[in-house]
Amino acid sequence: MAAVKNSNPKTGSADCIFCKIVEGGLSAYRVYEDGNVLAFLDIFPIHPGHTLIIPKKHYANIFDTPESDLQSIIAVAKKISLAVMRATKADAINIGMNNKPASGQVVMHTHLHVIPRFKDDGLKTWPQRPYGSDAEKAKTAETIKACL
Ligand code: AMP
Ligand code: ZN
Repeated sequence: MAAVKNSNPKTGSADCIFCKIVEGGLSAYRVYEDGNVLAFLDIFPIHPGHTLIIPKKHYANIFDTPESDLQSIIAVAKKISLAVMRATKADAINIGMNNKPASGQVVMHTHLHVIPRFKDDGLKTWPQRPYGSDAEKAKTAETIKACL
């Protein structure tokens, strides 16, 4: 069966499911929309109310997304976070973004996760560890600064 082409001019690919949601070819439970941004429920939520915020234009991740679109999605994430907290009686919100497959990104269309959290919900964030030495810490900071 031939792939259904999507018409998003920036996609350059017929297989972006989030572009299909933007265009209405794939259904989603939309909770917010404006000229640049769409928010809809994640189909496999960490908790009910887990919402994805995407730019309507196709970008793969933070690295190719213009600052103006990043500003738009984070501003909407704040608005949605407040609404999700009220709607789900959540105690807190995580906002997350995976960038590139090694981070866990599965859908290669820029998106923020707005995740409601509850006291004692048992979810743990990533394991952390101290630096091996102050020298390692200093070298790491200097290397990052040199890469800016
Ligand atoms: P990420 O790992 O950051 O790329 O997350 C992609 C997210 O998209 C996952 O949490 C999926 O559950 C979610 N997802 C995948 N397909 C759909 C869909 N058709 N509608 C809503 N959410 C989806
Ligand atoms: Zn896309």
